[in-house]
Amino acid sequence: MNYQEIFEKISDELKDFEQIGQVAAYIPALAKANPNSFGMYLVTEEGHEYAHGDTDTPFSIQSISKVLSLVYAFKLVGTDLWKRVGVEPSGSPFNSLVQLEYEQGIPRNPLINAGAIVICDILLSHLNEPYDNFIAFVRELAGNSGIDYSSKTAESEKACGFKNNAHINLMKSFGNIENDVEEVLDFYFHLCSIEMSCKDLAQTFMFLARSGKNPLNGKQVLSARETKRINAIMLLCGFYDEAGEFAFKVGLPGKSGVGGGIVAIYPDQYSIAVWSPGLNSKGNSSKGIKALEIFTTITQSNVFGPSPIFDELEYE
Ligand code: GLN
Repeated sequence: MNYQEIFEKISDELKDFEQIGQVAAYIPALAKANPNSFGMYLVTEEGHEYAHGDTDTPFSIQSISKVLSLVYAFKLVGTDLWKRVGVEPSGSPFNSLVQLEYEQGIPRNPLINAGAIVICDILLSHLNEPYDNFIAFVRELAGNSGIDYSSKTAESEKACGFKNNAHINLMKSFGNIENDVEEVLDFYFHLCSIEMSCKDLAQTFMFLARSGKNPLNGKQVLSARETKRINAIMLLCGFYDEAGEFAFKVGLPGKSGVGGGIVAIYPDQYSIAVWSPGLNSKGNSSKGIKALEIFTTITQSNVFGPSPIFDELEYE
């Protein structure tokens, strides 16, 4: 497969893409992002790598970190995790409060804000040096010791994090938060603030395409059984109320963040990251989704089965 050529074709096709969307201005630090940035990076099972566009520029991964914190918590507490957070798609926006009261403070899944906040609470209860331990975990997956939190972005989000405050206080009232709410939220905002490039991101998620094994050092991060569960959660919950549409059009487990990044994996084959900061109304990268839709259509790589392309309109 000539992936480089496919990247050129996608970039060409999306050159005048009109529905580029809006950057996430509700977090002041993210409002400065350049909506025209665009990068795609692919890491394959054989260890080949393909880059197109802005693939070395670090950006705020935001909710993509929710998968990494989930993995870390799953390693620490195993299936006890599911007493504190569910595995059902929410069908509602990432920051919606509505279900949380009906469901007695147990978030629908770990990839919406409420779920990720509970995961942060679990990490704080189990780690001696949560900030250091977590970033070390991410750096090892990425093979990049330069990856870090952005305190600036975390502070900026904290200053207007009223909705996340509402989430955590509601969960605390139901007894689903053990630690101090301020401490948990600070940790949550820092996890969201981690900066990575497309290259780092594709590499970091490669273990989920390889039955849990980090290809850089051969270490088993999760068992194959645990890995397939994380991938199932990404497929069903990774794009909030657009998860169905992403499965329908792209057909891979993946995760987005309001920094405009998306990462997706094709089991036993590859990990791919795209970055375009313009978001659609669901808070997912608009051009990023389109690029992945074209990519998985041309390469016939999706978890539901290949289908030959008959004409250019096939991925419309
Ligand atoms: N930090 C963001 C928030 O809590 C993350 C949202 C996202 O990337 N979808 O609102």
